[in-house]
Amino acid sequence: MSEIFVEKFGGASVNSAASIKNVISILQSDKKTRVVVVSAMGKTTNSLEKIIDLWHRLTEFNQEEFDFIKAYHTNIVEELFDNPFELHLALSMLEDIFSQLRQNLLNLNPKDYDFLYDNIVSYGERISTAIISQYMTSLGVNHKLIPAQELIKTDNSYRGAQVDWKKTEQEVKEKLKTLFLETDLVLTQGFLGSTREGYTTTLGREGSDYSAAIFAYCLNATSLTIWKDVDGLMSADPKRMLDAKKLEQVPYREAIELSYYGASVIHPKTIKPLENKAIPLYVKSFVNPDKEGSVINHCQEVQPLVPNYIFKDKQTLLSVSAKDFSFIVEENVANIFSELSYFGVKVNLIQNSALTFSVCFDQNDYVLPRLIEALQQNYNVKYNNDLQLITIRHYDEKAIENLNKKGKILIEQKNRVTLQCLIEELEK
Ligand code: ASP
Ligand code: MG
Repeated sequence: MSEIFVEKFGGASVNSAASIKNVISILQSDKKTRVVVVSAMGKTTNSLEKIIDLWHRLTEFNQEEFDFIKAYHTNIVEELFDNPFELHLALSMLEDIFSQLRQNLLNLNPKDYDFLYDNIVSYGERISTAIISQYMTSLGVNHKLIPAQELIKTDNSYRGAQVDWKKTEQEVKEKLKTLFLETDLVLTQGFLGSTREGYTTTLGREGSDYSAAIFAYCLNATSLTIWKDVDGLMSADPKRMLDAKKLEQVPYREAIELSYYGASVIHPKTIKPLENKAIPLYVKSFVNPDKEGSVINHCQEVQPLVPNYIFKDKQTLLSVSAKDFSFIVEENVANIFSELSYFGVKVNLIQNSALTFSVCFDQNDYVLPRLIEALQQNYNVKYNNDLQLITIRHYDEKAIENLNKKGKILIEQKNRVTLQCLIEELEK
């Protein structure tokens, strides 16, 4: 096979008729053999989650949210298709998918949450690709649409399915090879896979980046491009820091570190498959497609080497000490961690002293009282909510100075590269 490029378009890049037209123009701006991976349009996944939630909790059909999603897609279709006949075809296709969605939901066991979730949430991607495919056809853009369920094979851990790499590689190679005989543009969904029995699974929220990396890996792609509404990987969230800088070049390991600390630009699982085959990942702006984005590859050092900020809001700091004023020793720490793990708490920061062991994690109002109750059997427990965790990779003096202006620092930890601070009284 000739060179293959994988490109991923997320929800924000296909959230309106104008955005979809922009995607098509990006794809038509150069001739390449491509796999195009598309997410659900706009915030459709969140809306589907509401429908799933109501069915699960009360076995009620969320007519309002259903109508909302349907109207949203109908508007997009009405704006996309000028020709009345093609518009009619597209609308009746939408009608079919939406009645299938409804029927499927009503037939699913409301109690089997994870299975129900994957089946229903997948409609976001199914609808988006169906519309885009039909629109491409109306424009005469030669392409093939293939359901991702036929390509990505997983186990049955619904909502966070594990990829069966061997099977997936086989399916992807075999099926795409055949399709590429007929076209140079294969369209498929992100986020979705299926079990060996053919039940739909998902790879976890925001999992489309990961899907794209899986395709790139299996096809030995020349590169993966993720199209975003920002210019590339930034040194901070530009909404929080106006002077955020674009990172031109980022080593794979640095990208993994950044996503570990909570940078949300790329799904954390995306990097490994690419690193394993040295496939470069380009992050580019669909708003300014001609601008050079960021590239993540085997380079030595991030460029430019500026402090990188990662903000995590709504953090809890939980401090545990012995009831009888004794030291916190290894046995206690093991015991505390086993409680954290039992409650599925992912720890973001740890601090230990003779008498107190403190951990910081994402605030969760359901888990917290239960965790405290369990720990209080053996320990004194105190906690603080609504804190902010700031991580700075490649910090410098000025970055530290800026931190002091942000609020009261409860915990500060430094190593050679990374500084982490837990802060109270944030200025908003
Ligand atoms: N549509 C899914 C989500 O919003 C997957 C993705 O966009 O990556 O989580
Ligand atoms: Mg999305």
